[in-house]
Amino acid sequence: MTETTDILIIGGGIIGMATALELQSRDPAARITVLEKEPTPATHQSGHNSGVIHAGVYYAPGSMKARFCREGVQATEAFCTEHDIPFERLGKLIVATDETELTRMQALGERARQNGIVIEDVDEASLRRMEPHINGVAALYSPSTGITDYKRIAEVMSALFIARGGNVRFGARVVSGEERGGSVSVTTAQKRFEAGRVVTCAGLHSDRIIRAFGQQPGYRVVPFRGEFFRLLNQPDDLVSHLIYPVPDPARPFLGVHLTRKIAGGFTVGPNAVLAFKREGYRLSDISPPDMLDTLSYGGFWRMLAQNPASAASELTASASKRAYLKRIHKYCDRIALGDLAPYPAGVRAQAVAPDGKIIDDFLFVKTARCLHVGNAPSPAATAAVPIARHIADQLLDQAA
Ligand SMILES: Cc1cc2nc3c(=O)[nH]c(=O)nc-3n(C[C@H](O)[C@H](O)[C@H](O)COP(=O)(O)OP(=O)(O)OC[C@H]3O[C@@H](n4cnc5c(N)ncnc54)[C@H](O)[C@@H]3O)c2cc1C
Repeated sequence: MTETTDILIIGGGIIGMATALELQSRDPAARITVLEKEPTPATHQSGHNSGVIHAGVYYAPGSMKARFCREGVQATEAFCTEHDIPFERLGKLIVATDETELTRMQALGERARQNGIVIEDVDEASLRRMEPHINGVAALYSPSTGITDYKRIAEVMSALFIARGGNVRFGARVVSGEERGGSVSVTTAQKRFEAGRVVTCAGLHSDRIIRAFGQQPGYRVVPFRGEFFRLLNQPDDLVSHLIYPVPDPARPFLGVHLTRKIAGGFTVGPNAVLAFKREGYRLSDISPPDMLDTLSYGGFWRMLAQNPASAASELTASASKRAYLKRIHKYCDRIALGDLAPYPAGVRAQAVAPDGKIIDDFLFVKTARCLHVGNAPSPAATAAVPIARHIADQLLDQAA
């Protein structure tokens, strides 16, 4: 049996759900269906992240990340306010602990200012006053960084979309898609859909979905586990801001940070180690096809060859809790091994080009009737609403 619809969205993470709502608000009469293979929204990246509303400090000026993140802060706070979802604008300190980091921190401050982000320089004495338990020689202060619960946001988006007449099919895994003439035919394990337009937001499977639609993505997703710990035995006022290290420009991730959770308590993390399964949250989760996909990809080996020190250091921090703790001790030495309790890991979808370069910016692949979200790493949860607006603009542009 074939079901006909105007727009089909594949993937019910925060990007898929934000896109569904945005398209529905632009044309309330359109028939829009979301296909999600899991039983609930935001089961993967959108439900396993740091929960930080990023201000947009880090991103290359002029990039989509820089623009959408800046717009995303306001959009996320507005959505939370309107729908009674908790968020808190805690502010964040990016702490330099030595001279090398100080130089990098100053360059980062410059970048933030180029991005139009409010950022303040904090000297050692002021840092000590702001955060008595944190050690550093200086810091950057970003007052507009905050925290929220992105899983909750995606769930509310899904519920609103359904209440306004949208369709969400859970347990619907898309296996193929074909654009022909005036429509797109999409097949799930259960049935076939015929849609006027298709948007795919498949996260850790974005490259596979693009291939299943007969296109070449031009990259492969390499899954990186991000391991967190929950902090025990620490006072509620351990820190009042989010505490981040100065990122190493050689690494694509932000470093192990100390984050207050919106539901209470603190976590430290995440690191970044190769995952043996695209949606494998435990170290013991292994998928031979997923591993083959990574290990048979020349781009993966070129990436490793370009970042050997970083790969070795991440592996060490994953294998040894003591090595992990050393990263935290750089800026907070009152945390002991026994304070690190298990906390669920996340897996990042990182797009890697055939030459081994990590694709940093958001990436979209557009065909006559489909728009594929290729690369949507952090801060895509913060930027979900502006990304959804961008997708809707592109799709309506196609329709014109
Ligand atoms: C450890 C970690 C920390 C992070 N911290 C932050 C942060 O603090 N702030 C921030 O802004 N961002 C953060 N991010 C990034 C952010 O979580 C992601 O960028 C964002 O959630 C991506 O959303 P998405 O909808 O594209 O992907 P996902 O949430 O992964 O959703 C993709 C969906 O597609 C579905 N799907 C896949 N294939 C199919 C198929 N064939 N058929 C049907 N459905 C399919 C999946 O089941 C999934 O539900 C972090 C990410 C990680 C992993």
